[in-house]
Amino acid sequence: MVDTLRADHLTPYGYEVQNTTPVLQAMVDGPGGQVYHGMLASSPWTKPSVATLFTGLDPRDHGVMRLVGKGSKLKNDHTLGAEFGRGGYTTGCVMSNFLLSKRMRSGYDRGFDFYDDTVANKKDPHRGSTAVNISNSGMEWIRKQSGVKPWMLVLHYFDPHASFEDIAEVDWVDPSYDGWVVGGATTDMLREQESSLTMADIAALHAYYDEEIFETDHQIGRVFEFLKQQGLWENTVVVFTADHGEELGERGHIGHTQTLRSELVDLPFLVRIPKDYQDAWKMPESAGGGYAMRQIYPALLTVAGLPLPEGRSLEAPDFLTTQVDYVPVRKEHIEKYVQKRSLRKDGLQYILDTRSGEELLFDLTSDPQMMTPLPSNHQGWESMRALIDEPVFWEEY
Ligand SMILES: [Zn+2]
Repeated sequence: MVDTLRADHLTPYGYEVQNTTPVLQAMVDGPGGQVYHGMLASSPWTKPSVATLFTGLDPRDHGVMRLVGKGSKLKNDHTLGAEFGRGGYTTGCVMSNFLLSKRMRSGYDRGFDFYDDTVANKKDPHRGSTAVNISNSGMEWIRKQSGVKPWMLVLHYFDPHASFEDIAEVDWVDPSYDGWVVGGATTDMLREQESSLTMADIAALHAYYDEEIFETDHQIGRVFEFLKQQGLWENTVVVFTADHGEELGERGHIGHTQTLRSELVDLPFLVRIPKDYQDAWKMPESAGGGYAMRQIYPALLTVAGLPLPEGRSLEAPDFLTTQVDYVPVRKEHIEKYVQKRSLRKDGLQYILDTRSGEELLFDLTSDPQMMTPLPSNHQGWESMRALIDEPVFWEEY
């Protein structure tokens, strides 16, 4: 899992500006590789989305939607780690996001035998490239496994999250660019500059972001090589995804949490299923198109031959949902308080801002970047408005 990784910057999703992910491309091109299109994040930021991955539940059911206070802790007993543990697996997670560290007592370590959050606890977790540490810790843990019990390991990478570092191995920023965007620009700098971005600034942001994706891909490749050397590759299912994407200035914002548009909620979902497990791998598509993030957890248990706890289903819902109710902790950031709900069905996406009442409708087929809202006389409004009141959303406003 990679924090803050939007699907459209990956080679398997047709990104052509740079070859950001040669390792993942080789994985999906190889035997058992597959690219899924239309995996929708349950929310455009870390806590609710990772809770969905770790519980197989939408935010309404796992209850995590806030940074602090009510709705900020993962309390479910049937986490991915717990269920694999019950099924006889040894379980591990190498966690890079400080919000999910044990120190924060947010419950994301529940059920894992091993939870290494060393990287998440470093002094300034936003700075520097840490993908190498995540891979090293994961490989060290795998090396310690006996070979008798099966294992399940989550590697959580942080590099594409701000700040965007200058990676030594690649130079993708236009050499003639001389604006304020530099490798490692702090999150406060990004916030200060976001309302006055030039096209050249935006291009530089994308380039540094891509460099960090490249480094992450390279480090994931080291784990794959290690698995091959250890003779484990043909017996290991690999599932690759993200928690949410990133706005890189396209709409005057840098960061995540503020909208429910494609760059924040369209996730990569790539798998590599060895021959012996292909019959057990299932990921049914929604009747309205695409995949719900909460299907990943039951797909993992199912391919491992483990039972699903109550309330989980491999089946896709008829329509997909994503939402945000993000209350910033610092008072000076109160303009970032955002409450939105969204539905996706039959190639349309509807977004309701529950604070302002603003409604938007997009045609994802003709406008996948969601740049131009559809007019008020479009035939899709009625069916979407009818669904927005269904009790499928987290409610603790
Ligand atoms: Zn995140």
